[in-house]
Amino acid sequence: MDLLDELEKRVVCGDGAMGTLLLDDGVRMSRCFEELCVSEPERIQKIHESYITAGARVIETNTFGANAVRLQRFGMEERVSEINRAAVAVAKSAARNRDICVAGCVGPLGITARDAAARGIDRARCFREQITALLEAGVDAIFLETFTDFDEIEIALRAKKTVSEAPEICSFACRPDGRLRCGAILGEAFNRLREMGAKILGVNCMNDPAEMVVLLRQLPAEFPLAVYPTAGRPRLRDDRFHYDVAPQSFADAARDLVAKGARLVGGCCGTTPAHITALGSAIANLPS
Ligand SMILES: [Zn+2]
Repeated sequence: MDLLDELEKRVVCGDGAMGTLLLDDGVRMSRCFEELCVSEPERIQKIHESYITAGARVIETNTFGANAVRLQRFGMEERVSEINRAAVAVAKSAARNRDICVAGCVGPLGITARDAAARGIDRARCFREQITALLEAGVDAIFLETFTDFDEIEIALRAKKTVSEAPEICSFACRPDGRLRCGAILGEAFNRLREMGAKILGVNCMNDPAEMVVLLRQLPAEFPLAVYPTAGRPRLRDDRFHYDVAPQSFADAARDLVAKGARLVGGCCGTTPAHITALGSAIANLPS
Protein backbone atom coordinates (compact mmCIF):
# COMPACT_ATOMS: atom_id res chain seq x y z
CA MET A 1 0.00 0.00 0.00
CA ASP A 2 1.18 3.49 -0.85
CA LEU A 3 0.28 5.06 2.48
CA LEU A 4 0.23 8.71 1.41
CA ASP A 5 -1.82 7.94 -1.65
CA GLU A 6 -4.23 5.87 0.39
CA LEU A 7 -4.68 8.62 2.99
CA GLU A 8 -5.53 11.05 0.22
CA LYS A 9 -8.26 8.75 -1.03
CA ARG A 10 -9.84 7.62 2.22
CA VAL A 11 -9.71 7.47 5.99
CA VAL A 12 -7.61 4.48 6.98
CA CYS A 13 -8.02 2.32 10.08
CA GLY A 14 -4.89 1.64 12.14
CA ASP A 15 -4.37 -1.02 14.79
CA GLY A 16 -4.64 -0.86 18.57
CA ALA A 17 -2.37 -1.40 21.54
CA MET A 18 0.23 -4.14 21.78
CA GLY A 19 1.70 -3.67 25.28
CA THR A 20 -1.53 -3.60 27.24
CA LEU A 21 -2.75 -6.73 25.40
CA LEU A 22 0.46 -8.54 26.32
CA LEU A 23 -0.04 -7.60 29.98
CA ASP A 24 -3.61 -8.87 29.77
CA ASP A 25 -2.25 -12.04 28.29
CA GLY A 26 -0.14 -12.60 31.41
CA VAL A 27 3.21 -11.21 30.25
CA ARG A 28 5.03 -9.63 33.18
CA MET A 29 5.54 -5.87 33.17
CA SER A 30 9.24 -6.44 33.87
CA ARG A 31 9.77 -8.34 30.62
CA CYS A 32 11.21 -6.92 27.47
CA PHE A 33 8.09 -6.92 25.26
CA GLU A 34 10.07 -6.40 22.06
CA GLU A 35 12.20 -9.48 22.66
CA LEU A 36 9.02 -11.61 22.45
CA CYS A 37 9.26 -11.12 18.67
CA VAL A 38 12.27 -13.45 18.83
CA SER A 39 11.33 -15.86 21.64
CA GLU A 40 7.54 -16.07 21.18
CA PRO A 41 6.77 -14.86 17.66
CA GLU A 42 3.44 -16.73 17.50
CA ARG A 43 2.15 -14.69 20.41
CA ILE A 44 2.94 -11.40 18.66
CA GLN A 45 1.71 -12.63 15.29
CA LYS A 46 -1.64 -13.59 16.84
CA ILE A 47 -2.11 -10.03 18.11
CA HIS A 48 -1.26 -8.54 14.70
CA GLU A 49 -3.69 -10.96 13.08
CA SER A 50 -6.48 -10.09 15.48
CA TYR A 51 -6.04 -6.42 14.56
CA ILE A 52 -6.04 -7.18 10.84
CA THR A 53 -9.20 -9.26 11.25
CA ALA A 54 -10.70 -6.34 13.17
CA GLY A 55 -10.12 -4.11 10.13
CA ALA A 56 -6.69 -2.49 10.64
CA ARG A 57 -4.94 -1.65 7.38
CA VAL A 58 -1.85 -0.15 8.98
CA ILE A 59 -0.14 -2.27 11.64
CA GLU A 60 2.80 -1.29 13.82
CA THR A 61 5.68 -3.61 14.57
CA ASN A 62 6.27 -4.52 18.23
CA THR A 63 9.41 -2.39 18.39
CA PHE A 64 8.47 0.67 20.45
CA GLY A 65 11.47 0.26 22.77
CA ALA A 66 13.73 -1.71 20.43
CA ASN A 67 16.57 0.82 20.51
CA ALA A 68 19.97 0.29 22.11
CA VAL A 69 19.26 2.60 25.07
CA ARG A 70 16.04 0.91 26.15
CA LEU A 71 17.27 -2.59 25.36
CA GLN A 72 20.29 -1.98 27.57
CA ARG A 73 17.97 -2.17 30.61
CA PHE A 74 17.59 -5.84 29.75
CA GLY A 75 21.22 -6.36 28.77
CA MET A 76 20.12 -6.65 25.14
CA GLU A 77 21.75 -3.58 23.60
CA GLU A 78 23.64 -5.76 21.14
CA ARG A 79 20.40 -7.23 19.78
CA VAL A 80 18.83 -4.14 18.13
CA SER A 81 19.09 -5.48 14.62
CA GLU A 82 17.99 -9.02 15.52
CA ILE A 83 14.91 -7.91 17.46
CA ASN A 84 13.78 -5.34 14.89
CA ARG A 85 14.21 -7.79 12.04
CA ALA A 86 12.26 -10.46 13.90
CA ALA A 87 9.48 -7.97 14.63
CA VAL A 88 9.16 -7.05 10.95
CA ALA A 89 9.13 -10.71 9.93
CA VAL A 90 6.31 -11.44 12.40
CA ALA A 91 4.23 -8.44 11.25
CA LYS A 92 4.77 -9.33 7.61
CA SER A 93 3.69 -12.93 8.21
CA ALA A 94 0.52 -11.61 9.81
CA ALA A 95 -0.08 -9.29 6.85
CA ARG A 96 0.85 -12.00 4.33
CA ASN A 97 0.06 -10.79 0.86
CA ARG A 98 -2.79 -8.54 1.86
CA ASP A 99 -2.84 -4.82 1.16
CA ILE A 100 -1.61 -3.88 4.62
CA CYS A 101 0.97 -1.21 5.46
CA VAL A 102 3.53 -2.56 7.93
CA ALA A 103 4.85 0.45 9.82
CA GLY A 104 8.04 0.17 11.85
CA CYS A 105 7.33 1.55 15.31
CA VAL A 106 10.06 3.77 16.81
CA GLY A 107 9.59 5.27 20.27
CA PRO A 108 11.72 7.78 22.20
CA LEU A 109 14.96 6.59 23.77
CA GLY A 110 13.64 7.16 27.28
CA ILE A 111 16.46 9.44 28.42
CA THR A 112 16.86 13.20 28.44
CA ALA A 113 19.33 15.09 26.26
CA ARG A 114 21.38 15.72 29.39
CA ASP A 115 21.49 12.00 30.27
CA ALA A 116 22.53 11.21 26.72
CA ALA A 117 25.36 13.75 26.88
CA ALA A 118 26.50 12.55 30.31
CA ARG A 119 26.55 8.92 29.16
CA GLY A 120 28.18 9.72 25.82
CA ILE A 121 25.18 8.38 23.89
CA ASP A 122 24.86 9.45 20.27
CA ARG A 123 21.08 9.67 19.94
CA ALA A 124 21.10 10.00 16.16
CA ARG A 125 23.16 6.84 15.91
CA CYS A 126 20.71 4.92 18.13
CA PHE A 127 17.76 5.93 15.98
CA ARG A 128 19.66 5.22 12.77
CA GLU A 129 20.54 1.74 13.97
CA GLN A 130 16.93 0.81 14.74
CA ILE A 131 15.43 2.49 11.67
CA THR A 132 17.97 0.88 9.34
CA ALA A 133 17.12 -2.58 10.71
CA LEU A 134 13.38 -1.96 10.27
CA LEU A 135 13.79 -0.69 6.71
CA GLU A 136 16.20 -3.40 5.67
CA ALA A 137 13.73 -5.98 6.95
CA GLY A 138 11.12 -4.45 4.67
CA VAL A 139 8.73 -2.13 6.52
CA ASP A 140 6.58 0.11 4.32
CA ALA A 141 6.81 3.15 6.60
CA ILE A 142 8.39 4.38 9.81
CA PHE A 143 6.08 5.39 12.66
CA LEU A 144 7.82 7.71 15.14
CA GLU A 145 5.40 7.74 18.05
CA THR A 146 4.75 8.96 21.59
CA PHE A 147 7.46 11.64 21.41
CA THR A 148 7.08 14.43 23.97
CA ASP A 149 10.21 16.34 23.09
CA PHE A 150 10.60 18.26 19.85
CA ASP A 151 14.38 17.97 19.69
CA GLU A 152 14.27 14.21 20.04
CA ILE A 153 11.75 13.64 17.25
CA GLU A 154 13.77 16.02 15.09
CA ILE A 155 16.88 13.89 15.66
CA ALA A 156 14.89 10.72 14.87
CA LEU A 157 13.39 12.22 11.72
CA ARG A 158 16.78 13.42 10.46
CA ALA A 159 18.23 9.98 11.13
CA LYS A 160 15.37 8.40 9.20
CA LYS A 161 15.85 10.79 6.28
CA THR A 162 19.52 9.86 5.94
CA VAL A 163 18.53 6.20 5.57
CA SER A 164 15.48 6.21 3.32
CA GLU A 165 12.74 8.15 1.61
CA ALA A 166 10.01 5.72 2.76
CA PRO A 167 7.05 7.60 4.24
CA GLU A 168 7.17 8.45 7.91
CA ILE A 169 4.59 9.37 10.49
CA CYS A 170 5.73 11.78 13.22
CA SER A 171 3.44 11.45 16.21
CA PHE A 172 3.58 13.25 19.56
CA ALA A 173 2.02 12.49 22.91
CA CYS A 174 0.60 15.90 23.81
CA ARG A 175 -1.90 17.13 26.39
CA PRO A 176 -5.24 18.48 25.15
CA ASP A 177 -4.02 22.07 25.67
CA GLY A 178 -1.63 21.66 22.74
CA ARG A 179 1.58 22.17 24.70
CA LEU A 180 4.28 19.52 24.58
CA ARG A 181 6.14 18.44 27.69
CA CYS A 182 9.26 20.15 26.36
CA GLY A 183 7.28 23.42 26.36
CA ALA A 184 6.85 23.76 22.59
CA ILE A 185 3.47 24.41 21.01
CA LEU A 186 2.30 21.40 19.04
CA GLY A 187 1.12 23.42 16.03
CA GLU A 188 4.57 25.04 15.75
CA ALA A 189 6.31 21.70 16.15
CA PHE A 190 4.19 20.36 13.28
CA ASN A 191 5.15 23.30 11.08
CA ARG A 192 8.84 22.73 11.71
CA LEU A 193 8.56 19.03 10.95
CA ARG A 194 6.68 19.87 7.75
CA GLU A 195 9.55 22.15 6.75
CA MET A 196 11.86 19.18 7.27
CA GLY A 197 9.75 17.18 4.84
CA ALA A 198 7.55 15.14 7.18
CA LYS A 199 4.39 14.28 5.29
CA ILE A 200 2.20 12.68 7.94
CA LEU A 201 1.98 14.17 11.42
CA GLY A 202 0.05 12.86 14.33
CA VAL A 203 -0.81 12.52 17.98
CA ASN A 204 -1.07 9.35 20.02
CA CYS A 205 -1.35 8.20 23.63
CA MET A 206 -2.07 10.40 26.68
CA ASN A 207 -5.62 11.37 25.60
CA ASP A 208 -8.89 9.50 25.24
CA PRO A 209 -10.91 10.22 22.08
CA ALA A 210 -12.81 13.18 23.57
CA GLU A 211 -9.56 14.82 24.69
CA MET A 212 -8.07 14.19 21.24
CA VAL A 213 -10.97 16.11 19.70
CA VAL A 214 -10.13 19.07 21.99
CA LEU A 215 -6.46 18.84 21.00
CA LEU A 216 -7.22 18.66 17.26
CA ARG A 217 -9.39 21.78 17.45
CA GLN A 218 -6.22 23.79 17.95
CA LEU A 219 -4.46 22.43 14.89
CA PRO A 220 -4.81 23.46 11.28
CA ALA A 221 -6.36 20.57 9.31
CA GLU A 222 -4.10 21.18 6.34
CA PHE A 223 -2.25 17.92 6.20
CA PRO A 224 -3.10 14.27 6.86
CA LEU A 225 -3.12 13.53 10.56
CA ALA A 226 -2.65 10.20 12.32
CA VAL A 227 -4.64 10.05 15.56
CA TYR A 228 -4.33 7.20 18.06
CA PRO A 229 -6.24 7.93 21.29
CA THR A 230 -6.10 5.77 24.42
CA ALA A 231 -9.09 3.90 25.84
CA GLY A 232 -8.99 6.21 28.88
CA ARG A 233 -6.75 6.24 31.96
CA PRO A 234 -5.49 2.96 33.34
CA ARG A 235 -6.87 1.91 36.71
CA LEU A 236 -5.21 -0.93 38.52
CA ARG A 237 -7.71 -3.50 39.79
CA ASP A 238 -6.97 -7.14 40.72
CA ASP A 239 -3.43 -6.75 39.44
CA ARG A 240 -4.66 -5.70 36.01
CA PHE A 241 -5.09 -2.42 34.22
CA HIS A 242 -8.62 -1.48 33.30
CA TYR A 243 -9.55 1.21 30.81
CA ASP A 244 -12.92 2.85 30.90
CA VAL A 245 -13.65 3.86 27.29
CA ALA A 246 -15.72 1.06 25.76
CA PRO A 247 -15.28 0.10 22.09
CA GLN A 248 -18.47 1.79 20.88
CA SER A 249 -17.82 5.13 22.59
CA PHE A 250 -14.24 4.97 21.32
CA ALA A 251 -15.53 4.54 17.78
CA ASP A 252 -18.20 7.23 18.17
CA ALA A 253 -15.46 9.87 18.30
CA ALA A 254 -14.16 8.88 14.86
CA ARG A 255 -16.51 11.26 13.06
CA ASP A 256 -15.26 14.27 15.06
CA LEU A 257 -11.62 13.26 14.68
CA VAL A 258 -11.99 12.90 10.93
CA ALA A 259 -13.82 16.23 10.71
CA LYS A 260 -10.74 17.80 12.34
CA GLY A 261 -8.30 16.30 9.85
CA ALA A 262 -7.59 12.74 10.98
CA ARG A 263 -6.93 10.46 8.00
CA LEU A 264 -5.36 7.56 9.85
CA VAL A 265 -7.12 6.56 13.06
CA GLY A 266 -6.07 3.78 15.41
CA GLY A 267 -5.78 3.15 19.13
CA CYS A 268 -3.08 3.53 21.79
CA CYS A 269 -2.89 2.19 25.36
CA GLY A 270 -5.85 0.11 26.48
CA THR A 271 -7.41 -0.36 23.05
CA THR A 272 -8.18 -3.91 21.93
CA PRO A 273 -9.31 -5.64 18.73
CA ALA A 274 -12.89 -4.91 19.88
CA HIS A 275 -12.12 -1.16 19.80
CA ILE A 276 -10.63 -1.48 16.32
CA THR A 277 -13.62 -3.50 15.05
CA ALA A 278 -15.98 -0.74 16.22
CA LEU A 279 -13.66 1.96 14.87
CA GLY A 280 -13.37 0.23 11.50
CA SER A 281 -17.12 0.14 10.98
CA ALA A 282 -17.49 3.75 12.15
CA ILE A 283 -14.87 4.80 9.58
CA ALA A 284 -16.53 2.72 6.84
CA ASN A 285 -19.83 4.49 7.53
CA LEU A 286 -18.41 7.99 7.23
CA PRO A 287 -19.33 9.93 4.10
CA SER A 288 -16.23 10.03 1.91
ZN1 LIG B 1 -0.20 4.80 24.62
